[in-house]
Amino acid sequence: MTTIVIATGNAHKVEEFNRLAAESRLDNVRFVSAKEAREQGMPAVCEDSGTFVGNARLKARALQALLPAGTPVMADDSGLCVDALGGNPGVDTAYYAGPEATAAQNRAKLLAALEGVPATRRGAYFYCCLLLIDGNGNEFVFDAKSAGTIAMAESDGGFGFGYDPIFVPDGYDKTFAQLAGTVKDKLSHRGNAFQKLCAFLKAR
Ligand code: IMP
Repeated sequence: MTTIVIATGNAHKVEEFNRLAAESRLDNVRFVSAKEAREQGMPAVCEDSGTFVGNARLKARALQALLPAGTPVMADDSGLCVDALGGNPGVDTAYYAGPEATAAQNRAKLLAALEGVPATRRGAYFYCCLLLIDGNGNEFVFDAKSAGTIAMAESDGGFGFGYDPIFVPDGYDKTFAQLAGTVKDKLSHRGNAFQKLCAFLKAR
């Protein structure tokens, strides 16, 4: 049994990864959160590489350095790229409304930035980059997008996190925050990147 530690302090991501792992039927792999692997959990990381993969690498390496040698680690860096904003907030999605911004403030800033933009021009996609560093220090990258549109206003059904209340995936008329987690998993950037990781792990 291989244990892979998830390099995030974001409880919502841990919840999604636990659900994805449970759905994946990966019999020989167990995922644990940074918090389960060490008491202090995920260390603070300055995510300033300028790219998703670079930020995922910073997080994975920072945590791996604090774990017993040879512990496999997986990091996720993700964000929302909006067509009408030239792909922004992109790699700065988490800090769009400032370094201490809440998810609600980030969503409000995005809706304000798109004020007056019609529904037909509100295309966007979530992107997720998963970076696995195995016990020998080798890196493997798995990524995926989830295309959709930014809603005109928030619709929160109590599911999800972050920008979910304003993101409507293609083919649906509900936001991610109105869709059950198992539905989001099949459509989402994180769910699809995780499937690629699982296929890789199953083939090893
Ligand atoms: P990270 O933790 O540095 O990867 O930042 C990711 C940013 O994108 C945070 O602001 C998250 O709230 C947002 N984000 C990533 N994935 C999702 C998602 O599945 N739903 C909603 N927001 C997301």
